[in-house]
Amino acid sequence: MEKFIETREVTYKGEYDIIIAGGGIAGVAAALAARRLGSKVLLIEKSVMLGGLATLGLISWYEPLCDGDGRHIIKGISEELLLLSIQYGPDDLPAHWKTDKKGDSKSRRYATHYSPTIFALALNDLMSKEGIDVRLDMIASYPIMEQNRCTGLIVESKSGREFFKVDVFIDATGDADILYRGGVPCVQGENFLSYVAHGFGSKDVQKYTETKDALSIRRWMACGSNLYGVGHPEGLHKFAGTNNEDVTKFVRMGQQILFDRIKDEPPKDRDIITIPGMAQYRTTRHIQGEYELTINDEEKHHEDSIGAIGDFRKRHVHYEIPYGCLYNKEFPNMLAAGRIVSASGDGWEVTRVIPVAALTGQVAGSAAHLACTNNQSVADIDIAALQNLLVDQGIMLHF
Ligand SMILES: Cc1cc2nc3c(=O)[nH]c(=O)nc-3n(C[C@H](O)[C@H](O)[C@H](O)COP(=O)(O)OP(=O)(O)OC[C@H]3O[C@@H](n4cnc5c(N)ncnc54)[C@H](O)[C@@H]3O)c2cc1C
Repeated sequence: MEKFIETREVTYKGEYDIIIAGGGIAGVAAALAARRLGSKVLLIEKSVMLGGLATLGLISWYEPLCDGDGRHIIKGISEELLLLSIQYGPDDLPAHWKTDKKGDSKSRRYATHYSPTIFALALNDLMSKEGIDVRLDMIASYPIMEQNRCTGLIVESKSGREFFKVDVFIDATGDADILYRGGVPCVQGENFLSYVAHGFGSKDVQKYTETKDALSIRRWMACGSNLYGVGHPEGLHKFAGTNNEDVTKFVRMGQQILFDRIKDEPPKDRDIITIPGMAQYRTTRHIQGEYELTINDEEKHHEDSIGAIGDFRKRHVHYEIPYGCLYNKEFPNMLAAGRIVSASGDGWEVTRVIPVAALTGQVAGSAAHLACTNNQSVADIDIAALQNLLVDQGIMLHF
């Protein structure tokens, strides 16, 4: 491959204790946790809104915070964000979770639909109230590495190319792009074609007049495949999501299928409210951390657990996430959060959803704060001290 070697002066922009690349749910949770502990935090987001797939990607269903047996197990910032997602907009959170905070093995789980647009506005408001430095429309492009330590981050925006210095870096890009570019070993995933837009039609309006519930207006318009690959176009390869050609094809195919579906319908009978502003990949790349969560971890106790979770697909299933899923010890000041933590197969499925992305974000922000204040490697922080911090923040470590 032909290569061009570029040398260019890059302007210094400032220094932070903790920089988080990616303002999705994991990045937001990491920023909140680190800031609340007193760190100087910068959150960098390449689009112009916060929330990632949970807002811009139009995913509008917050998977359960309970284990399906009626026990509420995911708490902390994850629960705070679920409640924020519905504070100013429509929801269908079951009444028993609103009042008693418990259910049973037959009742609906602690999960809800929300308005992704209102949620994005509420996240922006929350970041302002918490005094967190946020940069929108800024892409984190490369980590500045000295051996395996990340000393800074090169960013691109309207202002051109600039760099920040950093003590501890958290990758919450959803694709581990920055950790990968810094040399952290990663594993690539595979994705069926997915493309979900939101629309409404005359039937939805009719339903609204009966229910008076704004949720009934917003219709989920799914193209491509479901979670299990049903609907993936026959003969089409699976998508990686880690190179530009693949992303372009993935998004344009989805747009084409949607367009072909609606273009011959009576124009006045329906509209599309919004199409996704980011590629809806579930699993593109995750790090190879000190521990990889897999199906073998179902019902397994981990002494170094940083949070207990359930399985959004089935009831009566529990996992504990070991801290080692968030880092690779060869990289002393870099952490992963969200759908890129070290997990595979079913382990990846259960960690990549919104509530767990928020949980690992909160843990990454707290661990980064400890590493920063004690001047330690992320691998060397006192796990008991981290667990104490998390318990103080409401997190349930063991199921
Ligand atoms: C089709 C589909 C359906 C789903 N359905 C559900 C569901 O019903 N319920 C549920 O709970 N979960 C669902 N999920 C999963 C869930 O939405 C995501 O896995 C979760 O929101 C991931 O959060 P995250 O913060 O880790 O990553 P993301 O949401 O991907 O956030 C990453 C953020 O980083 C930004 N970013 C990326 N690169 C850079 C960079 N270089 N510089 C700066 N910013 C950058 C992105 O713009 C984005 O805002 C679904 C996912 C898909 C794809």
